[in-house]
Amino acid sequence: MRNVVIVGAGCAGNTAAIYAARANLLPLVVTGVHAGGQLSLTTLVENFPGFPEGIDGPVLVENMRKQAEHFGAEYVQGTVVEADFSRRPFRVKIDGDWTEARTVIVASGASARWLGLASEQKLIGHGVSSCATCDGFFFRGKKIMVVGGGDSAMEEANFLTRFGEDVTIVHRREQFRASKIMLDRARANPKIKWLPGTVIDEVYDVEKGNVTDALMRDVKTGRQWKQPVDGLFVAIGHVPNTAPFRGQLELDADGFILSHGGARTSVPGVFHAGDVRDRVYRQAITASGMGCMAAIEAERFLEADAH
Ligand code: NAP
Repeated sequence: MRNVVIVGAGCAGNTAAIYAARANLLPLVVTGVHAGGQLSLTTLVENFPGFPEGIDGPVLVENMRKQAEHFGAEYVQGTVVEADFSRRPFRVKIDGDWTEARTVIVASGASARWLGLASEQKLIGHGVSSCATCDGFFFRGKKIMVVGGGDSAMEEANFLTRFGEDVTIVHRREQFRASKIMLDRARANPKIKWLPGTVIDEVYDVEKGNVTDALMRDVKTGRQWKQPVDGLFVAIGHVPNTAPFRGQLELDADGFILSHGGARTSVPGVFHAGDVRDRVYRQAITASGMGCMAAIEAERFLEADAH
């Protein structure tokens, strides 16, 4: 039986682990398949306080893990596939095995959203990607498209100009949701081309097994055309990783955990932290802050429970 099981090892989970470990709770952290969360997919993080020159995202999150392990947190690589919060002790199924826990902190984050085209899905890893940092290198001197109009799209497009012959930002509206500073930076980059008011209807060529072209459509006129592309990066936001908790915790219409104040979920003793609940701020520092809150609440819950 564990005092605390922490689901997820991004900023939220790792920070919760630091606090829970320092409170002598010997937390178990379930990392998922890809430990590190969103930060492990990024490059330089310039807005995490304490690093005036910035710090590489993967280094930052790995440092957090080391810090937690230093105080006794235990990490296990595995995926929580099911949870039973109907009675205590709670139970979470890590791959095939059930583990019992007095408290659970859900910090499972959010995953990349895709366009939803069958051809896109078939070509993931063969020219279609959701991670510029991971895959940009493969498109040296090639034609790149980035889909999306938010900060992620701007950031990825800027980064990809290091590799691509050119980078075209494809966005479904004329207005961009990206912050002014990120948008201005992209606009000032001469290697970036713009296709606002445009969507992608098809990605070719599934038969060849790699990306060659995309079928574009002008949203206003409906005009379609085929445009050559080698690397298609989809940067259209994220969906929360809450499938194992459906029916156990109150979720909103999009699957984000509904908060019952602080880090509390609809089940006393189960807490939330990070992007799995946060659709507004979604920053490393806010995820860490919420991880801290969740651990403090778990500690208080256990303390109250003992009396
Ligand atoms: P986002 O802000 O939610 O933007 C998603 C973009 O994808 C929007 O432009 C949206 O279009 C578009 N989109 C959504 N579904 C689509 C679909 N099915 N087909 C085509 N386009 C679609 O997501 P994000 O850019 O990943 O940013 C998430 C959060 O992280 C934000 O708070 C952002 O500020 C933050 N962030 C910060 C930094 C940084 O400061 N360095 C970097 C990256 C992200 P509409 O606009 O039409 O809805």
